[in-house]
Amino acid sequence: RPKIIPRPEHPISRKNIDREALKVLYRLKGAGYLAYLVGGSVRDLLLGKRPKDFDVGTDARPEEIRRLFRNSRIIGRRFRLVHVFFKGGKYIEVVTFRGRDEDGDEPCCDQNTYGTPAEDAFRRDLTINALFYNIADFSIIDYVGGMEDLRRGVIRIIGEPNIRIIRDPVRMMRAIRHAAKTGFSIDQQTYEAICRQKTKIRLCSPMRVRDEWLKDLQGGWASPWAKLMFETGLFDEIFPAYGRLLRENPETRKLVLKLLAELDKETARGDGLGEAEKMAIFAYPYVLIQTGLAHGPPKRPRTPLSEVRAVLADVIYPFDFKRALFEEASQLLAGLWPLKFYLSRQGEIPRRLRKKSYFVRLWHLFEIIKRAEGGVLVTSAPKRKRRRKKKKNISPETTEVRHHPL
Ligand code: ATP
Ligand code: MG
Repeated sequence: RPKIIPRPEHPISRKNIDREALKVLYRLKGAGYLAYLVGGSVRDLLLGKRPKDFDVGTDARPEEIRRLFRNSRIIGRRFRLVHVFFKGGKYIEVVTFRGRDEDGDEPCCDQNTYGTPAEDAFRRDLTINALFYNIADFSIIDYVGGMEDLRRGVIRIIGEPNIRIIRDPVRMMRAIRHAAKTGFSIDQQTYEAICRQKTKIRLCSPMRVRDEWLKDLQGGWASPWAKLMFETGLFDEIFPAYGRLLRENPETRKLVLKLLAELDKETARGDGLGEAEKMAIFAYPYVLIQTGLAHGPPKRPRTPLSEVRAVLADVIYPFDFKRALFEEASQLLAGLWPLKFYLSRQGEIPRRLRKKSYFVRLWHLFEIIKRAEGGVLVTSAPKRKRRRKKKKNISPETTEVRHHPL
């Protein structure tokens, strides 16, 4: 039996619900169907955050939903849901409550097995993601103890975590994501299940794991995410070569966390870092060690593109990236060599390099790396007054760089 939290006892106000989502909810309700706001939107509203998307759950079937909304489309070849379109290409996703298959198992993601609201709640991943907001009386319906976990700041997989993870190992990544994103702590049983089942992540399609990883890299919580990925050991399962290297080099592991913390700051500022730069930041410590750049400044201003490519491929194996993205990240990482060479000599960067199409982005990357490395690797950088004199060439604090062990 669910817990019903009536309107006066929770803070979700219709003012904070997307107008179009409200229209969809009201029209479904008017036609006699159940209509709930579901998933991440209820969680975010309760946390006082602006939800990214407002998903609607209902007992209406896709064809029935389709009939209620002229401007809607059924999508998904096997598991079907409905997109209701509004001005500007915006749409609200409406999904029929999902149930279990004949064996009482969760349906595969591509099966149409409709169910009750309770079944729909129990097949979700985390308790805080399984709350419903009922448009009929503005109450919250809680089948899984999500309200209590939200209040106490707990990330908990619904049901027996080992079983739920074995059915869909990506749930481990989702638990870690939400812990990193909210700062909540992971419930002990859930945590232990992740540690025990971590190898199962390899059974998932690399594409799905990659997409989850990229979300975490770009979301603004990459540093706490990496910390949890290290602690649970999930990192080593997903990035075996990188994981091994970081185990052997605890200092480098700290560097990863600092780099990602800088990345998170950039993300929070909305600083237009591209996907390639983010990938380069993530991979940099590995590339640094595997290519020998860690052992002092380069002796020649060469760009070791093919070595970097090979090493980068090791980091992200078995994931597969768009060729262009991979090339861009390799180019940026390789570009650090000549940059460090010139800065360690004269502090003057030749025009040839400055004119490269990717120089601005390379410079941005270099500055982020410099900030992150500052505390860890630079031990003897003397503080000198910066010269105020303007120079024609871009010359960052040369002293600092000269004493930089890279
Ligand atoms: P975000 O704000 O990042 O979109 P979200 O919780 O909405 O967070 P989605 O990936 O959009 O995340 O998923 C929507 C909902 O679907 C989740 O809130 C959760 O209830 C459910 N869900 C997603 N992935 C799984 C999964 N692997 N197993 C069970 N339920 C899932
Ligand atoms: Mg969502």
